[in-house]
Amino acid sequence: MSLQNYIDRINIIKNNIQKYSVTPNNVKLVGVTKTFPIDKMKTAIEAGIKIIGENKVQEALAKFKKESFPGIEKHYIGKLQSNKVKKVVKNFDYIHSVDREKIVRKIDKLNTKIKCLIEVNTSGEESKGGVEPRELEDFILQIQKYKNIQIIGLMTISPLTENKNEIRKSFRQLKGLLEANKKNETDNIHFNELSMGMTNDYIIALQEGATMIRVGRGIFGSRE
Ligand SMILES: *Cc1c(COP(=O)(O)O)cnc(C)c1O
Repeated sequence: MSLQNYIDRINIIKNNIQKYSVTPNNVKLVGVTKTFPIDKMKTAIEAGIKIIGENKVQEALAKFKKESFPGIEKHYIGKLQSNKVKKVVKNFDYIHSVDREKIVRKIDKLNTKIKCLIEVNTSGEESKGGVEPRELEDFILQIQKYKNIQIIGLMTISPLTENKNEIRKSFRQLKGLLEANKKNETDNIHFNELSMGMTNDYIIALQEGATMIRVGRGIFGSRE
């Protein structure tokens, strides 16, 4: 794919942000670079991508060792193992997938300014991580005692289905949970950001209030 192809694809997404988001100037596009090699990442950055998302610590660190991507924001969007927290904190600017107290405690202890989102399992699928929606408020109350971790919002992955209503329901639920938990904000726990929507469903996510969309194939093409 040529540089122009990347520019065209990014423009389509940017136009859709303007067209479908209620707050288009408040939406960040995360280019999900997992499985794609460094040369493609560099071309996408040349084409205008400013934020990259990776979901495997080992893969991401191997890439960052070869190329530091100066000036590019790095988001960790994958499952988080507690023994990898330190590495993630050291090498990323955001974590989208905080989903248990053990992880919160570890991040809090590192006294880092890394920005975190709580992942919520709105799909009910067991394969997916995230706090159960009905347990979210208790989880938030539980972690209010941690004074260093910076929580900025919620993240979800929509259910694996073609049914657009099911997908919309999952995003709408996340937005509802964000609003419902504003009353539980503290100095370091805030609910402003909604990370939701991928290549197949980011338009629905934009309509439902996403402030971060995570797009891989829509920029890089299909994964082999
Ligand atoms: C892979 C992945 C994406 C991007 O998926 P695409 O279908 O390539 O857009 C977004 N979010 C998470 C958590 C992912 O693992």
